[in-house]
Amino acid sequence: MEKHINVIGGGLAGSEAAYQIAKKGIKVRLYEMKPNKYTPAHSNKNLAEIVCSNSFKSNLLTNACGVLKEELRLLDSLLIKIADKTSVPAGQALAVDREEFSKVVTQEIKSNSLIEIINEEVTEEKLTKMIQNNEITIIATGPLTSENLAKAISKITGEEKLYFYDAAAPIVSKESINFDIAFFRK
Ligand SMILES: Cc1cc2nc3c(=O)[nH]c(=O)nc-3n(C[C@H](O)[C@H](O)[C@H](O)COP(=O)(O)OP(=O)(O)OC[C@H]3O[C@@H](n4cnc5c(N)ncnc54)[C@H](O)[C@@H]3O)c2cc1C
Repeated sequence: MEKHINVIGGGLAGSEAAYQIAKKGIKVRLYEMKPNKYTPAHSNKNLAEIVCSNSFKSNLLTNACGVLKEELRLLDSLLIKIADKTSVPAGQALAVDREEFSKVVTQEIKSNSLIEIINEEVTEEKLTKMIQNNEITIIATGPLTSENLAKAISKITGEEKLYFYDAAAPIVSKESINFDIAFFRK
């Protein structure tokens, strides 16, 4: 059988992984369940959909977020390259036009002859086959992994729950803001 690597999930992580693998001359089968099935937070048919803030935080080299992005640039990260290309004014932060960002990532991945996009949900049955065939497989289905696959991962790893670590964002209540010195914009 022809050698390839499976990447499950065409989000931010999966799209970057597929690109980096293809860059090494290895074929990729990128499984993305959209547009056949959507998580509760996704709604766009494109890859690398940003479901949250459009800001990738600071671009300054004086803090960890900025240094990390600069390292990604040096490592030829596809997503950072496209984020720079589709950026919108955001002071010292890197923020993107989310629609344009996903569109350009999708175009890049689609035009890569080593990457085959397969629009289907990977279920327990499919994952089991990949394991039985000794296929190298990256699971990049994010915090909203489909239920069937999440159960399969639990079974394989023996872990009852999967964990997702996210940075806690401070919440400021509107009542506490002095609008004499702040302004509101939608
Ligand atoms: C409501 C919400 C708000 C968030 N806000 C923030 C924020 O403000 N800042 C921040 O940094 N992070 C935030 N996050 C986290 C955010 O999801 C991640 O930063 C980022 O999207 C993770 O990228 P990823 O590639 O791991 O997963 P995703 O971008 O979620 O990509 C996973 C992909 O896998 C696909 N998929 C899932 N299951 C299967 C399957 N079985 N088979 C095939 N495809 C499958 C999905 O359709 C999706 O396209 C938020 C998440 C949610 C849900």
